[in-house]
Amino acid sequence: MIKFFNTLGGKIETFHPLQEDTVKLYTCGPTVYDYAHIGNYRAYMFEDLLKRFLLFMGFDVIHVMNITDVDDKTIKGAIEQGVSLAEYTEKYVHAFFYGLETLGIMKADHYPRATENVQEMAALVKGLLEKGYAYEREGSYYFKIAKFSNYGKLSNIDQRELKEGVRVDSDEYEKESVQDFALWKAQKEDEPFWETEIGPGRPGWHIECSVMSAKYLGDTFDIHCGGVDNIFPHHENEIAQSEAFSGKKFVNYWLHCQHLIRDGEKMSKSRGNIITIQELIKNHGTDPMAIRLLLLSTHYRKMLNFTFDALDQAKSSLERINEFVAKLGSLSLKEGENPEVVTLVDEMRQKFIQGLSNDLNISSSLTAVFEMIKKVNILIAKEKILKTDAENLIKAIASINKILRVVSFPPNIHVNDGMKVGKDAQVKFLERSLSHKIDKKIKEREQARQQKNYALADKIRDDLMAQGVVLEDTKNGVRWKIIKK
Ligand code: AMP
Ligand code: ZN
Repeated sequence: MIKFFNTLGGKIETFHPLQEDTVKLYTCGPTVYDYAHIGNYRAYMFEDLLKRFLLFMGFDVIHVMNITDVDDKTIKGAIEQGVSLAEYTEKYVHAFFYGLETLGIMKADHYPRATENVQEMAALVKGLLEKGYAYEREGSYYFKIAKFSNYGKLSNIDQRELKEGVRVDSDEYEKESVQDFALWKAQKEDEPFWETEIGPGRPGWHIECSVMSAKYLGDTFDIHCGGVDNIFPHHENEIAQSEAFSGKKFVNYWLHCQHLIRDGEKMSKSRGNIITIQELIKNHGTDPMAIRLLLLSTHYRKMLNFTFDALDQAKSSLERINEFVAKLGSLSLKEGENPEVVTLVDEMRQKFIQGLSNDLNISSSLTAVFEMIKKVNILIAKEKILKTDAENLIKAIASINKILRVVSFPPNIHVNDGMKVGKDAQVKFLERSLSHKIDKKIKEREQARQQKNYALADKIRDDLMAQGVVLEDTKNGVRWKIIKK
């Protein structure tokens, strides 16, 4: 069972996607007005962890991440530098993808750009106008929040605080000004604009995500992510626009990550405390995988305090795993399998999955990995490791590395790094981790049957069934399989 903390409702919920096997995921992408810093990448890393975990658990994931290449900030930057919007944003788009690649973040299926979807945005504004949720003032269009009774349900804004008829033009504002927000901004001198069916102008930031998510994922989809600073007003406004237009629920699960902070403050350009990936690699010689591990290893709903000490710790954790794998690959071992190691591997696998299933509790998953490494290292020192153990250990690390994606395997070890593991892989994974226990239960059931204790035999079968394991009595003995729930 997978559980997530849903910002909408503010509690932990069991995850059920709309379609049994496919998760539709939208993650707010970068506003390409500057180089992304590691705070931004914390959000993308949390989303990568979420996506890899869902894939690992056998779901297909359709992932859309927008690129905001027109908004207040990009326009301001382009005007200041005296270049076109496209010229201004392009270098940041490139830098963003460079960062994703450097940190091993999986690519989304679609990266729609706001500037390529402007006519659709105008059409949505027109639709809201026709339904009475929007109004026009001097060529700009605003969302009438008083008309949308669910306004504030994501960020828990009291309806009484709504300032009816008062308008806010900027894309970003604080909770104190809960006002009618701009869906569309009238053409201004010097600003880029588009000719559309609602007149000349450009979209507000929030309408962009409503349009680009619906285009690829439909009116209702499973998960929407972002940083906590997106909850209000951005995501609140997305809900208002999308639900007012479609009349359907927009998103079932909202997941938000906490900020990366430095010296007690949110890392952000305006506070002047940013660090970029390039800076860490070039000036400090940091291994990108240490940055990845650092960003991954704090639970996403906790603040991550960036310090160079924390980065060093991530580096030594990474070295511990890499050295462990290298050692396993270099030992010359006797044939055979030590049951103690089999148990350690099974326990690690189960705890690893359990941790992540519990609202992506990566800390407990990583603890399970390092505990196993510690115990196996002791067994290696005592020469209690056999050939099959080493192979199983490497396979287990390779398997969890589909999610962590930080381990460097030495050239003599070949692992399948593919991520599209699918449902079969999930079942195989469970089979491997359960097989010893199930075999034991089957033997107990056989014994019970021989002793004609059919009540016990049936109970064992039913207990297994409750865990999703089905037994089949065949001519060649008892076979079992796992049914994915
Ligand atoms: P922006 O480009 O400012 O729109 O931010 C892109 C994404 O990065 C958003 O989801 C933000 O919530 C997130 N973000 C920005 N700063 C931080 C930070 N210091 N820690 C974590 N996430 C952040
Ligand atoms: Zn967005």
